[in-house]
Amino acid sequence: MRDVEKTLENIYSHVVKQNRGEHEFHQAVKEVIETLGPVLRKHPEYADQKIIERICEPERQIIFRVPWMDDRGEVHINRGFRVGFNSALGPYKGGLRFHPSVYLGIIKFLGFEQTFKNALSGMPIGGAKGGADFDPKGKSDNEVMRFCQSYMTELFRHIGEMTDVPAGDIGVGAREIGYLFGQYKRITNRYESGVLTGKSPQWGGALVRREATGYGAVFFAQEMLKARGLSIEGKTCIVSGSGNVAIYAIEKLQQLGAKVVACSDSSGVIFHKSGLDLATIKQLKEVERKRISDYVELHPDAQFHPDGVIWDIPCDIAFPCATQNELDASSAKTLLANGCIAVSEGANMPVTPDGVRLFIEAGISYGPGKAANAGGVATSALEMQQNASRDTWSFEHTEVRLQEIMRNIHTNCYETAKEYGYPNNYVVGANIVGFKRVAEAMLAFGLI
Ligand code: NAP
Repeated sequence: MRDVEKTLENIYSHVVKQNRGEHEFHQAVKEVIETLGPVLRKHPEYADQKIIERICEPERQIIFRVPWMDDRGEVHINRGFRVGFNSALGPYKGGLRFHPSVYLGIIKFLGFEQTFKNALSGMPIGGAKGGADFDPKGKSDNEVMRFCQSYMTELFRHIGEMTDVPAGDIGVGAREIGYLFGQYKRITNRYESGVLTGKSPQWGGALVRREATGYGAVFFAQEMLKARGLSIEGKTCIVSGSGNVAIYAIEKLQQLGAKVVACSDSSGVIFHKSGLDLATIKQLKEVERKRISDYVELHPDAQFHPDGVIWDIPCDIAFPCATQNELDASSAKTLLANGCIAVSEGANMPVTPDGVRLFIEAGISYGPGKAANAGGVATSALEMQQNASRDTWSFEHTEVRLQEIMRNIHTNCYETAKEYGYPNNYVVGANIVGFKRVAEAMLAFGLI
């Protein structure tokens, strides 16, 4: 017993030493390793073959210069990344993030999480992540286009529909995917639809991909509540962020009869007691690319709090859908004190480890991002299927598939947590299911 704990401790210390300063990566690794003791005891072959050590080391990491020129003729240099973490279950798959905070540690934490999430989705895809420390905010369409073209001019040689299939993430939406795909097509002389997902449905994209992560996080919450004999209808919810994931989480919640009273962006929080008007948010964010503060000009009965903490607003269910570590222990305490019964993570690692501990100790339904936001990548895999067969599925058919996938993920996490003696602990369930799927494939392939 002690041996297993010691092995896990040593693995973690080695990861910290080998990847200095990459705090988000350390955090993601620790959270997984902490839950794997029972698996190693059942499967000593994983330890013998050093499966965890191998999973913690990305298969490949590419870092490159991205030079581009702004509208005034000034030259800028950004840093681009693509980390192929694990391809045991299929081609590398994971989004691209364009945000000034991006550095190797963020890309590695995301790629590591993605490996387990993709395994958990049941789809034949490996794990990866990429991006750049470029800020699309405040840039013209032409500047974003030039940046994307320069980024793809290096990236194209590392990706392909059978090798590595990027998609969007923070700062990379339909516009950026369009420019990236255009440049890939131009320099490779191939109309290779399956090389990127999150494409517009007019040229090879899947219906429901845009909605999938937000809808999926709500479907996951629905399953967690159902397991306790509860439902989403009539519940008061808050959703952080106002980007792709947040908007479609709000949409699905409203369709299911919940009231969503708050959302945010990095400039502050909107509180609208009678319920958010989604059409206004879509117009501001998807069309005009404005700040969320402009919402109150159209809805004077709503409030904007520039320094507000969204988690101070009382709710039944919280959906963190903005970014990593946005909900700390103090906010977790406030949510619990206000009677919150469930948290479903649309974002990746939005709750700090102390926050997660409090939710689990309190016994509320807590859905970690690996499970709760897997709907996005799962629908990307459906997009790859449609591209491979040159087919297009209807919105209704695709949404039913997404809902089935989220239901299966929930069942697998729920049952596995119970089997290993941690009932209702979706963190343990998600980590073990994802890890075992990757580990079994790695064992089958031998030492590669
Ligand atoms: P997005 O469309 O760019 O929206 C991100 C939202 O979060 C924006 O409202 C943004 O506000 C806010 N935000 C970002 N960084 C922030 C910070 N440091 N502090 C406060 N607010 C911040 O991105 P997204 O695709 O919705 O992604 C959101 C989260 O979901 C990320 O964790 C991402 O990794 C995860 N995720 C996304 C997908 C997907 O399919 N898109 C799938 C799985 C997981 P500003 O505009 O003011 O920056």
